[in-house]
Amino acid sequence: MRQLEQSEEEQIERGAASAPLPAMKPPAVCAGDNPEVATPCSVVNYLRWDLSAQQIGELTTQLIEQTKRVYDQVGAQKFEDVSYESTLKALADVEVSYTVQRNILDFPQHVSPSKDIRTASTEADKKLSEFDVEMSMRQDVYQRVVWLQEKIPKDSLRPEAMRYLERLIKLGRRNGLHLPEETQEKIKNIKKKLSLLCIDFNKNLNEDTTFLPFTREELGGLPEDFLNSLEKTEDEKLKVTLKYPHYFPLLKKCHVPETRRKVEEAFNCRCKEENCAILRELVALRAQKSSLLGFRTHADYVLEMNMAKSSQVVATFLGNPLALPPSGPTERHLGLPKVVGPAHVLAHPWIPGQEAKGSSSGLSGSGPAPTPLDELAKKLKPLGEQERAVILELKKAECEQRGLTFDGQINAWDMRYYMNRVEETRYSVDQNLLKEYFPMEVVTRGLLGIYQELLGLTFDLEPDATVWHEDVRLYSVHDAASGKVIGKFYLDLYPREGKYGHAACFGLQPGCLRQDGSRQIAIAAMVANFTKPTPDAPSLLQHDEVETYFHEFGHVMHQLCSQAEFAMFSGTHVERDFVEAPSQMLENWVWEKEPLLRMSQHYRTGTAIPQELLDKLIKSRQANTGLFNLRQIVLAKVDQALHTQTMADPAEEYASLCQEILGVPATPGTNMPATFGHLAGGYDAQYYGYLWSEVYSMDMFHTRFKQEGVLSGKVRRGTVPAGERVRDVLTLGPGRPGPGPHALHCPGGVGAKALAACGCTHCAHRCRLAQGPSGAGSGQPRGGSGAHLGGRPRLTQPRSSPRQVGMDYRSCILRPGGSEDAGVMLKLFLGRDPTQDAFLLSKGLRVEGGEAQAC
Ligand SMILES: [Zn+2]
Repeated sequence: MRQLEQSEEEQIERGAASAPLPAMKPPAVCAGDNPEVATPCSVVNYLRWDLSAQQIGELTTQLIEQTKRVYDQVGAQKFEDVSYESTLKALADVEVSYTVQRNILDFPQHVSPSKDIRTASTEADKKLSEFDVEMSMRQDVYQRVVWLQEKIPKDSLRPEAMRYLERLIKLGRRNGLHLPEETQEKIKNIKKKLSLLCIDFNKNLNEDTTFLPFTREELGGLPEDFLNSLEKTEDEKLKVTLKYPHYFPLLKKCHVPETRRKVEEAFNCRCKEENCAILRELVALRAQKSSLLGFRTHADYVLEMNMAKSSQVVATFLGNPLALPPSGPTERHLGLPKVVGPAHVLAHPWIPGQEAKGSSSGLSGSGPAPTPLDELAKKLKPLGEQERAVILELKKAECEQRGLTFDGQINAWDMRYYMNRVEETRYSVDQNLLKEYFPMEVVTRGLLGIYQELLGLTFDLEPDATVWHEDVRLYSVHDAASGKVIGKFYLDLYPREGKYGHAACFGLQPGCLRQDGSRQIAIAAMVANFTKPTPDAPSLLQHDEVETYFHEFGHVMHQLCSQAEFAMFSGTHVERDFVEAPSQMLENWVWEKEPLLRMSQHYRTGTAIPQELLDKLIKSRQANTGLFNLRQIVLAKVDQALHTQTMADPAEEYASLCQEILGVPATPGTNMPATFGHLAGGYDAQYYGYLWSEVYSMDMFHTRFKQEGVLSGKVRRGTVPAGERVRDVLTLGPGRPGPGPHALHCPGGVGAKALAACGCTHCAHRCRLAQGPSGAGSGQPRGGSGAHLGGRPRLTQPRSSPRQVGMDYRSCILRPGGSEDAGVMLKLFLGRDPTQDAFLLSKGLRVEGGEAQAC
């Protein structure tokens, strides 16, 4: 748990506790795999999925009581009795058990097949969220931690324990525990309200059951297998819901503009009234809380914990420097006893005067603007204009061909359709043909094989594991060199009623040290909604689904490979504007020839993707770059606007930015921000992080992997690479055994539903990381920046051998979890400060001394 911090943006966080659940196995013991700590390792999976709705309620109460008891003990200590063991360690230990048990209680709301259990789990989440707020506001506990810091000799704690201590104090201050009691009370009440509002905002969206009935003619352009998968109304019309597997294919493929218009409008009107009201309240309460804490805006409050540090830096990044004084903690905030040193500030390549050495951008580094990423926005704009012109041309031609009226503009419901047409016509990528080469079983085998090889791991299917649904598979993960277990992961890949509707990675059991000093293995779940198999055909994935798969699995690996000591720093508990970087980097593998060949095979003929199609696919990565990234900028700016200007009207702000930046008007009457789950899902004021972290992901990929090899071993076609000997038996259908390799050659139609895989309500990116406190467990400014590196022997300098690059990545980027600042990890992996060149080049933009490339 976040002892002293549970802000509203963390409402998705899984936590759990030390309630003695029945039938728990005693820990097995294996040799430790953290050489520094050299502790034994507990390979126990403490998770369980057999609780009834009633048990969930009972155990929630029990968990709260047990955890509160520990806080009471810590808070009641006499100051002279305060010690590391009685305070820090006690809090860290209860956090480990609380986190696991909280997840057992609140994860089922997303995945359980039983509605009763989902409801009980949501209720548990609400109760636990309120409890989290209570515990985060414990001034008695905070005072003892502050006392400890003042009393304890500086060098007596291990670096990570010192970081933990500093973080607790930082989070305590961010909750106002240093402020008068009356203010604290106000903050606490706001936090509780925020927490419930966030849960309701996303629950409203998840439970939306709107559908629109259409005739087959009205759905012209959609493939037969899609149409056949739709339910029918009483008058034989086809039901189109607003869930992703319906919405995205329809917007991309339906050639009837009026149908697209109706669906786009309905999609962006989901929960309009109720969520609009919630959003206004959220934004106002966040601003109020931040103001009480001495911050000018909520964005500044949030960003203090990120790499960006302030809204001004983000504004510069997005190409719109604010004419505002530097923000952040005000005098009142800074006037407190100094508990942490100056922040480690990474040299941001786009901040004037902070260009990293070696940057070849050649762009001005002085004055207010332009900065390199101003340049991005500026350069993307003409690119977007060119793309719009192409789209308009295509639209005109199509209107003539189909006898439709040409209105001379691109509407919101035209965007995806014509972006897809660009791919089909300009890049000649036929997505329907392509997906025949991506049967789920082949993709999974290839993907798992690549990850195993890259990171030096082996995966084993646990055939008799207890899971929450028959579709779910559990794998154990070993370090290939030592054979030691490092964790487990669940794959829950197919949609079903009531299931979480996006693609996400859930951290379920943090990899960290337990009370007895043994290492607890990390366990995570990848939850997605890929095309389901049918009796006639396996699940066939669109290429963007393969990309989503690779991305989400990257988060899973981050969870499993981290070797932090404290749960607070485990896995993906890094700065929120860095957390996507490791996964985004791994997306590059689905745009490289060799990995693509390993993950594909025609589901009937067993043949490889033809060279020509492969080349076209790789080239198509550049398709729509301008519009795609401009849309990301729009979303990031809406988010920033709402959290820097309290009076901003969400729908108006969105509409005006769409027109100004994207050149495409929002559909009148819609309210896209009311459907923008990120605003209530831990990304408030942090949506920019997707673009921000891409700078680092591209730098890491091009500087190391592209140079040293994307795969550690060469693969001859027709052979099974070592890493691909996955001991898995993937079933291709819920509840039935996998058909085995022969099924891939069986004739049969593509029975699967068309499905757009995307984790975001608007398909602008891959996923929401449904785990971890957004800023709370991460990004704390630290004293001495890189000075503490000397005390971190487990971070090793990168080695230059191509065979080692994957291991370097595991060691420098994944292994520390949040126990290091992202800037330190990056510098170590890259061997220098990051630069933005690779990012700019990947967008097709020129930098001095470099050439645009399709990466
Ligand atoms: Zn992600």
